[in-house]
Amino acid sequence: MTSALISALDPARAADPARYAIADAVPRVAVRPVTREEVSEALRAATRERLGVVPWGGGVALARDRAPERYDLALDLTALDRIVEYEPEDMTLTAECGATLATLAAALAARGQELPLEAPRAARATLGGALAANASGPRRLRFGAPRDRILGARYALADGTLARTGGRVVKNVAGYALHRLACGSRGGLAVILEASLKLLPAPETRVALVFGASAADVADGARWATFPRLEPALFTVVRGALAGALPVAAPTAPFTVFVGLEDDAPRVAEQEAACVRALGDPDARLEGESVAALWQSLTDLEDAAPARLTFTTADNTPEALAPLLDLVPDVPVMFHAPAGRLHVFAGPPHVAAVVAALAPPRFQLVDVAGMEPPEPIVAPQAAVLALRARIRSALDPAGTLALGPRWERGGF
Ligand SMILES: Cc1cc2nc3c(=O)[nH]c(=O)nc-3n(C[C@H](O)[C@H](O)[C@H](O)COP(=O)(O)OP(=O)(O)OC[C@H]3O[C@@H](n4cnc5c(N)ncnc54)[C@H](O)[C@@H]3O)c2cc1C
Repeated sequence: MTSALISALDPARAADPARYAIADAVPRVAVRPVTREEVSEALRAATRERLGVVPWGGGVALARDRAPERYDLALDLTALDRIVEYEPEDMTLTAECGATLATLAAALAARGQELPLEAPRAARATLGGALAANASGPRRLRFGAPRDRILGARYALADGTLARTGGRVVKNVAGYALHRLACGSRGGLAVILEASLKLLPAPETRVALVFGASAADVADGARWATFPRLEPALFTVVRGALAGALPVAAPTAPFTVFVGLEDDAPRVAEQEAACVRALGDPDARLEGESVAALWQSLTDLEDAAPARLTFTTADNTPEALAPLLDLVPDVPVMFHAPAGRLHVFAGPPHVAAVVAALAPPRFQLVDVAGMEPPEPIVAPQAAVLALRARIRSALDPAGTLALGPRWERGGF
C-alpha cells in the first residue's frame, strides 16, 4: 500500500518516519514536499490508497498530542517556508505555511511591524501550525485570535484539490471565509499552504511591570476595581515556581502579576503612573527588547509542565482565580486576565478537584495537554457535533486527514 504511495512521489522527498511519532505511533511513511503541487500529489496518492495523513509543522503540539486512530503518512510542511509577499504600506503579509513565527517576526521587525500571532517555541512553531491550532498567548486581547487576523489562504483539500479563499488585502469580499474555518481545525479539514494576515505597527515603547502578590491580594476584588481602565497589552497572573523560569527577577510572593504597556512613549508613561498609583511600586521593571523576550517566555510557559488544563472565562480580573486559591495551593496557574484564558498545570491527582472548582458556566474547559480528558467534561451540543462531522465529511469524504479537534476524535 505504502509502496504505491512512495512510487507516486519523488523519493528525494522521503523523510525518516521515526521523527514523526505521535505518542507511540510511528507513521509508515513521511514526506517533506517542497512545492504546493507536491503536497497536492501526496494527498491525492494518500486518498487513492486510503491512508491516514497528519500534516506536520514544527511539531511543537504534535509531539504531545494523542495518536490518531490511523496514521500512515506524516506530511512535513516545513520546506514551504517562503515569504510570498510583504506589503509594509498595506500592513499585510502573505507567507507559506512552514515559515516559523520567529522568522516572520524578524522580517517584520525590520520595518517596525508586528505579526499578530503568538505561540510557544516561536523558533519552531510554524505559521500553518499556529493557524491550525488557532494558538494564542498573553496578548490575545491586543492581537485577537488568529482567525480574526487572517485575510485569506491557499490550501490543499484532502483529495489534493488546490483551493483559495479570501485574498491578500484587507478590503476583500469573497463569500464564505473558509480560511477562517481552517483556523482551529487542527489539520482536520485541509492543509493550509499559504496565508495572508493583517499586521500591526510595532509599538514605539514597551514596558513590563512585575508585582508580587499574596493570595489575599489576588482575591481582593476591591483592589482590582481601583485598577485604572488602562487596556494593558498584557495582564498575566502566574502562581508558583513557574515564574522562576522567566527572564526577570521574580518576586518571592506566591503570585506574580505582569502588566505590559505598549504604545507611544507619553501614553505608556501615563499608563505606568496610573498603574503605580493603583498597585504601588513594581518589584521589577523592564523596557525595550527585553520586554518582547519576556512576552515570548510567558507564552512558552504554556508548554512548561507535563500536564495542563485550559479554561476560558468571561471574568477578566485576577479575582476570577478565587475558586482555586484554597484548593491544591501548590498547583501552578497562569491567567491571561484580559483574554479570560486560564491554564492550570494540574496532573491527574488534582484534575477532578480543579474541574469541579471551575465549573461551568463561569469557566469552560477548552483544552487539555499531557493527559486523558477528564470526566465529566462539557461536550459541545450534539447538534453542533453532528454539523461539524458533516462539514468534515464534505471536505474530506474519504477521511484522509487523520487528526482534527479532539472533540471529533471521540474525546476531548
Ligand atoms: C493537539 C494540540 C495540542 C497542543 N498542545 C500544546 C502544548 O502542549 N503546548 C503548547 O505550547 N502548545 C500547544 N498547542 C498550541 C499550538 O501548538 C502551537 O503553538 C502551534 O500549533 C505550534 O505550531 P507547530 O508548527 O509546531 O504545529 P504542529 O505541532 O506541527 O501542528 C499542530 C497542529 O496543526 C496541524 N498543522 C500543522 N501545520 C498545518 C498546516 N499547514 N495545515 C493544516 N494543519 C496543520 C497539525 O496537524 C496539528 O494538528 C497545541 C495545539 C494542538 C493542536
